[in-house]
Order: sequence, then structure tokens, then C-alpha cells
Amino acid sequence: MKEITCKLLIIGAGPGGYVCAIRAGQLGLDTVLVEAKKPGGTCLNVGCIPSKALIHAAGEFEKLTRMAAGQSPLGISAKKPTLDLVRTMLWKDSIVGRLTTGVSGLLKKAGVKIVVGWAKFRDGKTIEVETEIGSQMIRAEVVVIATGSDAIELRSLPFGGRVISSTEALALTEVPSKLVVVGAGYIGLELGTAFAKLGAKVTVVEALPLVLPQYDAELTRPVAKRLHDLGMEVLTGAKAKGLPSKDGLSVETADGKTTMLAADKILVTVGRKPATEGWGLEAIDLDRDGPFIRIDERCRSSMRGVYAIGDVTGEPMLAHRAMAQGHMVAEIVAGHKRSWDKICVPAVCFTDPEIVSAGLSPEAARASGIEIKSALFPFRANGRAMTLENEGGFVRVVARADNHLLLGLHAVGAGVAELSASFSLALEMGARLEDIAATIHAHPTQSEAFVEASLKALGHPLHL
Ligand SMILES: Cc1cc2nc3c(=O)[nH]c(=O)nc-3n(C[C@H](O)[C@H](O)[C@H](O)COP(=O)(O)OP(=O)(O)OC[C@H]3O[C@@H](n4cnc5c(N)ncnc54)[C@H](O)[C@@H]3O)c2cc1C
Repeated sequence: MKEITCKLLIIGAGPGGYVCAIRAGQLGLDTVLVEAKKPGGTCLNVGCIPSKALIHAAGEFEKLTRMAAGQSPLGISAKKPTLDLVRTMLWKDSIVGRLTTGVSGLLKKAGVKIVVGWAKFRDGKTIEVETEIGSQMIRAEVVVIATGSDAIELRSLPFGGRVISSTEALALTEVPSKLVVVGAGYIGLELGTAFAKLGAKVTVVEALPLVLPQYDAELTRPVAKRLHDLGMEVLTGAKAKGLPSKDGLSVETADGKTTMLAADKILVTVGRKPATEGWGLEAIDLDRDGPFIRIDERCRSSMRGVYAIGDVTGEPMLAHRAMAQGHMVAEIVAGHKRSWDKICVPAVCFTDPEIVSAGLSPEAARASGIEIKSALFPFRANGRAMTLENEGGFVRVVARADNHLLLGLHAVGAGVAELSASFSLALEMGARLEDIAATIHAHPTQSEAFVEASLKALGHPLHL
């Protein structure tokens, strides 16, 4: 058996692992990255990127469908569009291919050695990798665990056949005529909405009383309305019980009755769990934080020289958090003084309309005993939103009442994902309401609603 020795060994080439490897390589660390599948992990291959490609295609299709139905006020008419989902998926795959090839190139440029295979801890410094050509032993001074997460399976609805996870949903070659989505978190609603726009009759089953339970009701109301307008049926307070027959899915509704939902496909999106199995965690016995690996503010695990980053370490399970952790850990291993000092990890939900959330909601700020000023500015009073037919939604600011320091910034509306950058910047730089109000935002843009919401919190909005 051959043996490699290195300074840094990273397990998993998702956004956490590959960013860590690139930065480590740039810093001159002798780095090995082990990946069982493809570079890019969940995010590039079966997550963020392919889902957004499908969402875009579905949006274009729906726009044309509306125009063909004479429902566009713009004076544009079109022929009823047709869809070749096989081609849509090929287009989506080509984007994934370009990005994963790009990541491989960046790793090569940074001098990172990539080993393809399944890694397993022998001890805290020794990893055995099952490669296509046999076993490879690697000894490292420092190991970073970046193994990511997997879709949670319901015991009553195991994956297989008609029951699919987001991964299979992103590879369908035909639009299911009846799709049931179990779980109304962001993944379920993003994909459910996309398939509804592509022509599926979609029913969403959610056990909690509201969709997108991680966001406050004010933010999710426009999304719930749009689901309804798209003809999607949403059953809240309802539990999927199983597939007793070919007829469909058995669901216990909020009133305690049992109903059967016909379904060609049942997309189960009830959350993701850390990937902690099959790679020898038991051999090193790291401390846990619930199901996740416990880490400190430097992403150190309970074993010296073993770090963990990304989804395997907890919420929010988002690609940009994994990347920021990977970047930081590479610098720590290179001897830089770094620790996790982020004020916010923004979250974007690419539903229709989109939701952006950065920092504290009004409820969360009040619950932590802070007296706040909060205001929202509606897009119906924003010129650019009108020209884009995007009048639903708003920008909301939350600031301390005493010194006006921004605590939370949120928006719901078409295209608001891009506002996440200025929201994060404002929070990280410790901006106050007056700073936003005094910053010239180009006209006409939807971002002017950020200035107006700040002015409104200060008591003097201009355009309301
Ligand atoms: C449908 C969907 C949409 C999403 N959309 C978004 C979004 O819009 N924005 C966002 O921020 N996040 C999104 N996410 C979440 C995002 O994909 C994850 O947060 C992110 O990929 C986590 O990165 P990671 O590096 O921790 O792990 P992962 O990306 O899961 O990568 C882990 C890698 O480790 C490899 N691996 C695991 N164990 C071993 C082993 N023992 N040996 C070798 N290799 C191993 C795996 O093969 C995998 O490639 C989405 C997820 C899904 C499923």
C-alpha cells in the first residue's frame, strides 16, 4: 500500500472543502483533498446551482405561458410555449459541468493534490482512501472534515420509485403531472414552485402551521400568496403517512382526517442531516452538538489537529457559510490569527418572490431584550419595481432604538436575492440607519427601497 504524507488533508470537495483547499494551496501548504464523487459537492452538483438553473428555466416558461394566455399587460403576445425537459436538464448539466471543471482547474492551479475515493479515519492523523486502483494511506499533520450533508429520509416514505429527494427531482426528464412535495422548507418550495410553473399539479404537505417556518410570517406571506396564485395546493398542519397503495399518498390533515393524494412523484424535502456515517467518526470519537460535529470559533473539533467545516458542523447549512469556514481554517492552519467573527450569515430563499434574510428579525431582536425601531418599505412605491412588474414585497430594516445600529435586514420580492450583498455589508460594517439614508442608491433600482425603509425607521420616508 502506497503512503502519502502532507501538512493538510481535507475530506470532501464541496464548497467548504474545495475553498479550504484552494486557500491552503495559495498559502503554500502541502494540501491533499479527498473526494468520493465530483468536485463541488452538493452545491455545484445537486444543490444550489442546478436548482437555480431549473428555477430560471421554469420562470421563463411560465412568463411565456402567461403571455400566450393573454395575461400580460405589456402588450406582448406569444404562442403557447412547449417544453423539452431533457434539453433543459442538459443545459443545467452543462452549467454544472463548467463549474465543476472550473473548480478542478482552480485546485490544480493552487497546487492541491486531489485523491478520488472514499476516505476513512484510521486514527486522528491517518486516513485510508478506497480508490479505484486500491487503497491509499495518507498521513497528515492537520485534517479538515468537510463531508457535508444528506437528505433526510422519512421512515414511512423511503427514497426509491415514486419517492424522490431533491437530487432525483433535479434529474427528471419529464414533468410529473401530479407532484406532492412533503416539507415546505426552502428546497421543497423552490423545486415545487419550479415544477408548478412547468405544468405539474403540485400539492405541498407541511406538518407545521406555516410554509418556510424558518422565516417570520410577514416575510413569507407574499410567497404563500404566490403559491396559491400558481394553483399549488398547500396543506399545512398535515402529515404524510405513507404509500399504502398505488392510488397515492396517505396524509393526515390538520383536522385529524386521513386523505389520499394522487401522485406521480413524491418529493420528500424534510431537511438535511450531517454526513457523519461511514468514514470512521467512531474511530476518533469527536464531541457532538446534537447530530453535528461540535466546533469552536476556529472550527476546531474536540481532537487536536482535526477541524470540521460546512454542513457537518450545523446550521445554517448554506454553501457560503461552508466557504467562509473553509477559507478561515486554511488561514489558521497557515498560522494566521483568525476566528469566526461574522455578524451575519445571510440566507436567500429562491422562491417566487425571493426572500432575503440577514441578521435578526424584529421578533428575535425583541426576544433578546433589545428595544428596536423597525420599518418596511413596499415595492409598490418603488419605480423600478413597477417597471419590472415586481410590485409585491418590501424591504424591512431592524435597528436598535437607542443608537440606530442595524440589527437585521430583510426583503421579499422578485430579484431581491442580489440585495443580500448590501445587507451583509451594512451589518458587517456596523452601519446605522443614518448611514444607509445618507448613501446615494442609484435610481431607478429596487435597492432604493433600502434607503426608504431606513428613512421610514427614522420617521421621514420621502416616497411614501
Ligand atoms: C437542492 C438544494 C439546493 C440548495 N440551494 C442552496 C442555495 O441556494 N444556497 C446555499 O447557500 N445553499 C444551498 N444548498 C445547501 C448547500 O448545497 C450546502 O450547504 C453546501 O453544499 C454544503 O457544503 P459542504 O462543503 O459542507 O458539503 P457538501 O457540498 O455536501 O460536500 C461534501 C462532499 O464531501 C464528499 N464526501 C463525504 N464523505 C466523504 C468521504 N468519506 N470521503 C470522500 N468524500 C466524501 C461528498 O461526496 C461531497 O462531495 C442547497 C442544497 C440542496 C440539496
